[in-house]
Amino acid sequence: MTITRFAPSPTGRLHVGNIRTALHNWLYARQQGGQFLLRLDDTDAERSSEEYAQAIRADLAWLGLDIDGEERQSARTDRYEAAFEKLREAGRVYPAFETPQELELKRKVQLGRGKPPVYDRAALELSEQQIADFETQGRAPHWRFKLDHDAQILWDDLIRGPQHFDPALLSDPVIRREDGSWLYMLPSAVDDVEMGISHVVRGEDHVTNTGLQLQMFEAMGAPPPAFAHEALLVGSEGKLSKRLGSLGCDAFRESGIEASAIVSLLGRIGTSDPVEPFADPAPLIESLDFTRFSRAPARFDDEELKALNTNIVHQLDYEAVADRLPNGVDAAAWLAIRPNLETVADAGDWWAVVEGPVDSPAFDAETAAFLDSAAARAESLDWSGEIWKDLTGQLKADTGRKGRDLFLPLRQALTGRDHGPEMAALLPLIGKQRAVARLKR
Ligand code: GLU
Repeated sequence: MTITRFAPSPTGRLHVGNIRTALHNWLYARQQGGQFLLRLDDTDAERSSEEYAQAIRADLAWLGLDIDGEERQSARTDRYEAAFEKLREAGRVYPAFETPQELELKRKVQLGRGKPPVYDRAALELSEQQIADFETQGRAPHWRFKLDHDAQILWDDLIRGPQHFDPALLSDPVIRREDGSWLYMLPSAVDDVEMGISHVVRGEDHVTNTGLQLQMFEAMGAPPPAFAHEALLVGSEGKLSKRLGSLGCDAFRESGIEASAIVSLLGRIGTSDPVEPFADPAPLIESLDFTRFSRAPARFDDEELKALNTNIVHQLDYEAVADRLPNGVDAAAWLAIRPNLETVADAGDWWAVVEGPVDSPAFDAETAAFLDSAAARAESLDWSGEIWKDLTGQLKADTGRKGRDLFLPLRQALTGRDHGPEMAALLPLIGKQRAVARLKR
């Protein structure tokens, strides 16, 4: 059974980077007929909030990334405690008492000697007596996971291919703070085991963590999940951008971007598959293939998103947008207006044009006379047929006008604008009464 998880910390809103991670986990779970879990990494009680948790759920729902279950780390601390005790008994975690200042000094000395700043494991040399002394002084330890230096760390990443770390070049990671609170590393590995996570899809900023966590899986006697580390997301200028770190669903929604446009873009950028406008995610689900993910950063381009969005809006069925349209816009009106929209919200502008009033420009005397004759024709014609075709055909025969001379003044008088939806679709919506009144000079 394929089980993926999206594991945000509820310490902020989702942004394009973690939306993309969530999306790939969701797409893969759906492709494999598996499950997609939301796991709130909320061990940091101070920075986590229910408000953010709620916003994350709402954003996932808006994006259409339905979840098959939710877990939260704050409710599972007894599980971490149990795993910790076992690892301690097995000698895989150990207490350390260095202060942050002492650790910083060690780092500086190592760097000064041109050595990698790897923790020197001095805490492993402490005698029982020294530990007891620290404790009587009221100093609590933080806890480190002891890496097995004899076991090379190897895995075949689904995106990055074969990976190798030498554990001797890595610091034993701190997994628990002085106050007993948990850092990310161990709880996450415990959860992945106990929740049966089969695939971990996350950003390549976690590659080293994976190396460390693989030894935790091993120490817990559990087979590790498969890993796929995706390249990071950069702005169109090719750089990590601060703006992307805060650009989220609210901003997209406000600027009229459809969830399906974001899904279409984030699903495919940074892969060798073309970005295409999918109003429905089925083709994305079907085509997701980690071997087609590039190791170069994925570029997020607002202009590309806008263009995709326009394209998707032009595909949306009336049913998909009905609850977002102004009163009175029916399926026929939607189809008439749709090809002219960049966002669904823009439909309101065109509906205002249909309902009026409209401001038309001042026309010269000859054009005004032409429009008066158009009003008379519009009055007498049968509106149950193809009124635009009949009206313009009639006026062409009457006046000899054609092309722009024929169509533009009519459009201007009827809509107050030079461009817009096909008049053939718009005119029946405007209707006889309003049309005649707008044409009359
Ligand atoms: N909370 C971690 C993060 O947001 C989760 C990483 C993971 O997927 O394991 O970076």
